[in-house]
Amino acid sequence: MRAVVFAGDGRVRVDDVAEPKLLDRGDALVHVDLSSICGSDLHLLTGKTPGLKPGSVIGHEFVGRVTDVAEGVNVAAGDRVIGSFLIACGSCDRCAAGRFNFCSKRRALGTGELTGDLDGAQAEYVRVPVADVNLMRIDVSLSDERALFGGDILTTGFYGADLTEAAKGDIAVVVGAGPVGLFSALAVARRGARTIVVDTNVKRANWAADNLGLEVVAVADHPEEVIANLTGGAKADVAIDAVGAVPALKTAMRCVREGGRVVVLGVYGAERMDLAMGRAWVSGLDLRFAGMANVQGHWSEALDAVNSGEIDPTALITHRLSLDDAAEGYELFASQEAMKVVLTP
Ligand code: NAD
Ligand code: ZN
Repeated sequence: MRAVVFAGDGRVRVDDVAEPKLLDRGDALVHVDLSSICGSDLHLLTGKTPGLKPGSVIGHEFVGRVTDVAEGVNVAAGDRVIGSFLIACGSCDRCAAGRFNFCSKRRALGTGELTGDLDGAQAEYVRVPVADVNLMRIDVSLSDERALFGGDILTTGFYGADLTEAAKGDIAVVVGAGPVGLFSALAVARRGARTIVVDTNVKRANWAADNLGLEVVAVADHPEEVIANLTGGAKADVAIDAVGAVPALKTAMRCVREGGRVVVLGVYGAERMDLAMGRAWVSGLDLRFAGMANVQGHWSEALDAVNSGEIDPTALITHRLSLDDAAEGYELFASQEAMKVVLTP
């Protein structure tokens, strides 16, 4: 089958690889109808997230049809499904508590050795372990493109918004106008907060204003001052780092008021950050690291918002390519020319 594999040296290539097989009880095989490229895929190429071996199949956002299942699986061949990037066991105490992202056997699709060395979904077929936990059946009313992001970035946005606990009347700042930041902003706005998106890339910020009608700030230096001008001096009650870079986190921290909350949704690796402890302490900074998104805990809520027409995830799709053109898709996304690239095998 055709699949996008890590070519080493920051690159991908499309190659012929062996089709996946059912390996364990609970497995399902899924024919991928549509997959997409995520910011987290870029971290694998740059080595920020280490452990992806050259030749491994990459990708973790997909929609498709089940073609075969192992023993002990309720989803059946022919079911239309989305897959979660986060692979949870479904039976440990964390999963039982609904905190799937802290599953004691947590893995992730297509993200290398540190997360279970599972082959990914930018391919014609993907094997999904513990299929009943990690696949969600979807209704015929939901098109592939509307469902696709439910297994990652759309639901990551809902999870991040939930962690902020933003409420009606709050001011929320989302740092990063990439796909994760934009879905976070839409999910926070849905909770009734005035939501302001900040990006250092003027093009990305303008895109968010033009295409999603979001309130945006496009500046590199001191966005907190621009936000204060917009709000008549008020600071944010909550902020989300939807970038995963220390300067972005610092922006989020500078934007919140005393007693405010900062949710760290962007992915971190080996970075380190100095924290002015006295200032953090006296201002009661509530710094919440998200970890991997709790997909299984929030995907129903996220897709309900799509079904009801409150959120149109297809608005973020700027490029539709064949899987064979994935290398071009990665370039378009890495250069921020594309907002979201979808790949059809
Ligand atoms: P992306 O790279 O497309 O977007 C990042 C955006 O941040 C860009 O628009 C960039 O211009 C902007 N940016 C960079 N530095 C900035 C700064 N200092 N201030 C303001 N804006 C800045 O990525 P994405 O797909 O939107 O993903 C964002 C992050 O979320 C990535 O780290 C990704 O790995 C992570 N992520 C986390 C989870 C999770 O489970 N927690 C899930 C999916 C993605
Ligand atoms: Zn992702």
